[in-house]
Amino acid sequence: MKVMKFGGTSVGKPERMHEVAKLITRDGEAKVVVLSALSGTTNALVEIGDSLSRNSRREAFEQIENLEAHYRNFIGALVTSPDALAAAAAIVTEHFEFLNIILKISFSEALYKDILAQGELLSTKLFCVYLREQGISHEYLPALEFMTIDNYDEPQIGSIRVRLAQLLKKHSDCPLFITQGYISRNSRGEVDNLKRGGSDYSASLIAAAINATVCEIWTDIDGMHNNDPRVVGKTFAIEQLSFEEAAELAYFGAKILHPASIWPAQHYNVPVRLLNTMQPDAKGTLITEVAGSEGVKAVAAKDGITAIKIKSSRMLLAYGFLHKIFEVFEKYRTSIDMVTTSEVAVSLTIDNDMYLKEIARELEPFGTVEIDTNQTIVSIVGNEITATPNLLNKLFDAITGIPVRMVSYGGSRHNVSLLIPRAHKEDTLRLLNKGLFGLD
Ligand code: ASP
Ligand code: MG
Repeated sequence: MKVMKFGGTSVGKPERMHEVAKLITRDGEAKVVVLSALSGTTNALVEIGDSLSRNSRREAFEQIENLEAHYRNFIGALVTSPDALAAAAAIVTEHFEFLNIILKISFSEALYKDILAQGELLSTKLFCVYLREQGISHEYLPALEFMTIDNYDEPQIGSIRVRLAQLLKKHSDCPLFITQGYISRNSRGEVDNLKRGGSDYSASLIAAAINATVCEIWTDIDGMHNNDPRVVGKTFAIEQLSFEEAAELAYFGAKILHPASIWPAQHYNVPVRLLNTMQPDAKGTLITEVAGSEGVKAVAAKDGITAIKIKSSRMLLAYGFLHKIFEVFEKYRTSIDMVTTSEVAVSLTIDNDMYLKEIARELEPFGTVEIDTNQTIVSIVGNEITATPNLLNKLFDAITGIPVRMVSYGGSRHNVSLLIPRAHKEDTLRLLNKGLFGLD
């Protein structure tokens, strides 16, 4: 059995959904198909939730009306038979009635999550109506019946596995299951989610839970590229990556794959393939245990980074200093990406500055605290990259003139990371494309 996940743009237009139906019926292998919400929908739902949280009911009402109009148009081009049109219209009515009822209830975090879940519920149910119209037999598999997260928002793979097996067993002769990405149920039994972009994570968890032959992530680009195609002119799709390389790239900014989606596939050894719905026969990128080759594979950049430096003469020859500093970050559940130390100072970076003020206040007793916001991490990734001869020479030659704030080398054998001011990101990526890949 395999898993095929389609992102928002792959289902964002009626004709794209038709295309997805073709793609999932090309081979005879049984499959679980995971869908995102139509592109733009989750953003619209976030706006509706935000309006409600500010008590701007009028605004929320208008936003709901606009979104509903979009869906009414959508179904008109998705299906044609009167039966299918009626079924699709009933689904749209059901979910928009729900949103309109929410307008009258007082706002809470739980309600907000309920609002966010409507996108994936709509896309999967409407897709099933289309499949039925086409006579493609399938089962609808509600993610809220098996995708669970614990108190720390971590998916519980053990129980996902058990529940999913039970659900699939009920229809053991069915070759096609349709389910939602992103949405889940939390430990209080409420509707929750795996955070923005989480449908990839859902797909990987499902693939791990059912020991799938492959987890296919279908998007609108032909795989993981060697550099950011939005910034540099010439890039190419990478044919093969190891899980470790892919994890580094996803974590450090390659937008194509949600960073958390690597570990379930890696842990249960399910290959992941990144494919393009616009060019279904292109090879894409295959991610497996083994790396295809050694040396530099790609660079990626992650914006919105804050650097924090703690300078203290007390650090000199002291032990336990880093432990105390890290404890502050642990207390605020803020993860650290890069760390560099000297004998009297430590610099580190975070990508979530929600508790920056609190963290800075608690760090003050340890020394002078300096904060630089608006930084970018540029990561150079490749299997055994740190053993590549002359890598550092080449790297720093390529970016002469760029004010590098931090360097992280040797943390893993597959990554070198640089911290630079955000304003220099484009130049850095272009210079690295030339210096490391010979591309202008
Ligand atoms: N629809 C959700 C989002 O836009 C999840 C996803 O597409 O992966 O974040
Ligand atoms: Mg995505």
